[in-house]
Order: sequence, then structure tokens, then C-alpha cells
Amino acid sequence: MNKFFFNTILLKGSNVSNHIRKNLTLQINELKKTYNITPKLSAILVGDNPASQLYIKSKEKAFKKMDCISETHNLPINTTESNLIELIKGLNNDNSVHGILVQLPLPKSLDSKKILHSISPEKDVDGFHPMNIGYLYQGEPKYVPCTPGGIIEILDFYDIPTERCHAVIVGRSNIVGKPMYGLLAQNLRKGNATVTMCHTGTKDLSYFTKQADLLIIAAGIPEFIKGDMISEGTHIIDVGINRVNDASEKKGYKIVGDVDFFDCFDKSASITPVPGGVGPMTITMLLSNTVTSAKNSI
Ligand code: NDP
Repeated sequence: MNKFFFNTILLKGSNVSNHIRKNLTLQINELKKTYNITPKLSAILVGDNPASQLYIKSKEKAFKKMDCISETHNLPINTTESNLIELIKGLNNDNSVHGILVQLPLPKSLDSKKILHSISPEKDVDGFHPMNIGYLYQGEPKYVPCTPGGIIEILDFYDIPTERCHAVIVGRSNIVGKPMYGLLAQNLRKGNATVTMCHTGTKDLSYFTKQADLLIIAAGIPEFIKGDMISEGTHIIDVGINRVNDASEKKGYKIVGDVDFFDCFDKSASITPVPGGVGPMTITMLLSNTVTSAKNSI
């Protein structure tokens, strides 16, 4: 039997999320009691993409549960860029709104970059504005994108070492891979690692993944990382959320990560499950960023 079998730590995002939400509750109560401020998120949904509708609904539910306000502006698919930007400008100037979120992906007719850039950096609770990415890369993060921010919280909660470690990130998207690199490579909480970023241009991916003390995978390929691609004792953060057909499931599908969980479990020192790993952290970090913005508004 593999020596790591009994020691592998399951990195449950729900535990970390509960811990953070308890702390947020105190901050929210304080904001209400002392300043009469209720943190408020304004989300914008263009079109009727079912996955996006689902994401928005879960965000609304989470905010409601925490006694915060979440309003959604539902716009038709043929909304023009100027209409959308006008709406964002109004929200930028509305003092009761602390966070603005544009649900991605936007319809192809709209320039996502232009629209995201029109959100005030002070209310950019998704952390996608170039100014906030710039602060992050200067080592002074203000609003950290929610998924990488949630991963840092998981590493912190479970005391997974990063300092002097080799962290390998697979994926270089603007929402996961790139900000993750910026956080881990700098001398920040749960940073100070030597970081390698892999992507489709990487020659011999296994060469790098086998060197990882910490492997963060966000490629969007179901069960892509196999046991023979990692070394014993690797800490694995699986960001992937992939729907795969499964006739044995009632719904006809199941959700799997980018890591072949059962193939990698024995060899890993710790691993996030999918679902239940990184997923629960993303909305919690959105709440956290919105509370921060509400505090900054005082
Ligand atoms: P993107 O599709 O934007 O990026 C995927 C990245 O993976 C790209 O940089 C791509 O490289 C790289 N990649 C793809 N195939 C390979 C390969 N064979 N070898 C090496 N690199 C590869 O995805 P996202 O970052 O948006 O999301 C990734 C996954 O994470 C998805 O499953 C998504 O659903 C999930 N996700 C989960 C979240 C959560 O809350 N848990 C939040 C956000 C995403 P290249 O740049 O060269 O194309």
C-alpha cells in the first residue's frame, strides 16, 4: 500500500468557506450596527445562458443568507454596448452599491474587455479590472479575483506550505491562472513560491507537473491529470468543473475536476475534491470582496 494513503488530506472548501463566513458575519453586523451600511452587490446578466442564470441565482442566495443585498439587472441578449456601459456608470456612481459584477461570458457582439474596464476599480469585486490586476502584480492586492483568492484561503486554512516550494500552475486564464501566478510568486501570505505556469504551448507537461510540490490545475479538461503525472507527496488544487455524461447518475451527468481524483489520491499529500473543493470558495470570496468594498466606503 502506498505510504501516503492514510495521510492524504482532503481539502474541503466548505470548511474554509464556513470559517470565513463566520468572520464575515461579524463584519457585516458591525457595518449595519455602527454605520447603517448593508453590503450590496449589483450583478448584470445579459441574455439567458442557463449556466450563467444558475451562477447568478447561487450568488443571490449566498448574499441573502448573509443578510447582504444582491440585485440582478437582467438585460436582453441584444443589449448594446453603450446601454450596458451607461448602466455600469450609474452603478459606479450609486453610493448604495458596493460591488459590481458582469456575469461572463457576455454575448459575442459585446466587447467584454471594454465593459469590464468600465467598472470602477473601487467596486470591481471580481478583481478583473486591469488596475486591480496591476495592484496584485505590484504585491499590493486590493480586490483579488475570487477563485485564486479562495485557493490562497484553502492553502492558509489547511497550512499547506508554499514558501520555498515549487508551485506549478496549469492554465493561464485571466480569471484563474494569471492572478494565481501573481499571488504565489510574491512574498505575500501563502506566497513566496517558485512558480511555473504551463499552458498549451508547454512541451512535455508531465516534466513540470512531476516537479510540483503544489500543483494547481485549471485547464478545463475532465480528469486530465493522472497519477503517473505527479510525484508522491504533491499538494493538489483542482480548479476544474467539468460536466461529463454518466448514465448511472439520475441527472445523466456528473461533475468532475481536471484531476483524475482516484488515480492521484494515494500519491498526493493533500487534494481538493470536485465538487466541494475550490468551488464553494468562489462565492465566499465575492462576499468577502463586497464586504471589503462596503468597509472602504465609510
Ligand atoms: P480557460 O479555458 O479560460 O483556460 C484554460 C487554460 O488551460 C488555458 O490557459 C489553456 O492554455 C490551458 N490548457 C488547456 N489545455 C491544456 C493542455 N492540454 N495542456 C496545458 N494547458 C492546457 O479556463 P478557465 O481558467 O476559465 O477555467 C478552467 C477550469 O476551471 C474550467 O473547468 C472551469 O470550469 C473551472 N473554473 C472553476 C471555478 C471555480 O469556482 N471552481 C472558477 C473558474 C473556472 P492556452 O492559454 O494555451 O489555451
